Amino acid sequence: MARKPMMAANWKMNKTVREAREYTAALLPRVADAEGVDVAVFTPFTSLSEVARMVEDSSVIVGAQNFYFEDSGAFTGEVSASMLQDIGAKAVIVGHSERREVFGEDDEMVARKAARAVEAGLLPVVCIGETKEERDSGGMWDKVSGQVRRVMQEMDDGVDGEKVVFAYEPIWAIGTGDTASPEDAQDAIGKIRGLLAEVRDQDFADAVRILYGGSMKPDNVADIMAQEDVDGGLVGGASLEVESFEKLISAAAEDDS
Ligand code: PEP
Repeated sequence: MARKPMMAANWKMNKTVREAREYTAALLPRVADAEGVDVAVFTPFTSLSEVARMVEDSSVIVGAQNFYFEDSGAFTGEVSASMLQDIGAKAVIVGHSERREVFGEDDEMVARKAARAVEAGLLPVVCIGETKEERDSGGMWDKVSGQVRRVMQEMDDGVDGEKVVFAYEPIWAIGTGDTASPEDAQDAIGKIRGLLAEVRDQDFADAVRILYGGSMKPDNVADIMAQEDVDGGLVGGASLEVESFEKLISAAAEDDS
């Protein structure tokens, strides 16, 4: 099955509203012809409504980097799926390793957020991945498969694979300049797809997009994208400048694997 590639920018805690506006104004004409690839930008909450307004008439998908699975109530500091949708968000990153490591989100919370996002009609980009210690001690697959299983346990049986995106992000490769080799990325992502077929079904596994994340850059994107099961990238550092993000988008558009 042909899955549409996705190239997603994770700005993390960067950019004022003015900077977000400048970036988006520069990005829009460059992606006007980017056919065959979903371009997504995950902004801080503060610039989300402005970017959503600017991309309204384009194919660019705007999303948040986090949310809480309850819809309203006494949850100081949190925002809900409906609040994100109210300001134009179409997608949300769930369970980024920085949320897990710095803010203590566990597999259960990540799974509940992923299921709630789908239920609300937001596209979740669910992040999974192992630490360096886990990889070195041979525990990579235990960790990653456990994370995927927990998410799928929470996800209703009727959910289509198109409604969910996973991002395999080895934690040791995020923001470090160290990238998984294209073969390692394929190996992990191929196994994740196999696991999804086992715990759900083949249709779901064939339709779900699985991105790679971890120091993806213009000089390594083509080799990573060329891997059969890699459907795109979730990109931090190299997405912060429009010029390099555009190169990643072009590589995703040109890939025919
Ligand atoms: C990320 O933020 O998900 C990420 C992969 O960051 P970087 O590209 O900077 O490694």
